[in-house]
Amino acid sequence: MVQEQVTGRGIKDPRVPEAMRKVPREFFVESALASRAYDDGPLPIGDKQTISQPYMVGLMTESLELKGDEKVLEVGTGSGYQTAVLGLLAAQVFSIEKIRPLSVRARAVLDELHYYNVALHVGDGTIGWSDHAPYDAIIVTAGAPNIPRPLLDQLAPEGRLVIPLGDEESQVLKRIRRTESGFQEESLGECRFVKLWGKYGWAD
Ligand code: SAM
Repeated sequence: MVQEQVTGRGIKDPRVPEAMRKVPREFFVESALASRAYDDGPLPIGDKQTISQPYMVGLMTESLELKGDEKVLEVGTGSGYQTAVLGLLAAQVFSIEKIRPLSVRARAVLDELHYYNVALHVGDGTIGWSDHAPYDAIIVTAGAPNIPRPLLDQLAPEGRLVIPLGDEESQVLKRIRRTESGFQEESLGECRFVKLWGKYGWAD
């Protein structure tokens, strides 16, 4: 999976495929879908949500430019797979999920696999998690209509926010960097995610 779908498609930071090789993706999908865990696409994880396509996990992770000592906020824990990859590449990961049963299941799998630098929270990630801010990197794994202002506010100087922005059908993956003079925005390509629901996302 990693060679064909991640390295083979242009993910250059060697730490990203190295981390993805270490995380057993089949633990994060329902047992009936274990044989498809390494397929080239998203898979259902219950509650109408999905585990993201491996390539998209690689691209978003690389875009955060992690070196290993960062504090990262993830919005949209989902299965916990992306959380586990981040746990291997950063010092501390804080991850928020809106749907409690998904967060509970993710916690059980992350504990089973000994990811102890990851804290999970159930709530609306569009308001961020101010208790642990500022974050060196923030990743949003659901599609937003606009950039939630609290996430910009919780970004450290030189911090990176990676977020799919667009309408319900398709989005553009954006990276926003906090600089001395404000925020710089780059487009990283088209993508398609489930909706980011919440106060600063789509209306519930
Ligand atoms: N990164 C996940 C993985 O590896 O399995 C995939 C996440 S899935 C594409 C998007 C997740 O975002 C869903 O689990 C959904 O419930 C969650 N979500 C949507 N709106 C949210 C919000 N406001 N706060 C937190 N989580 C939210």
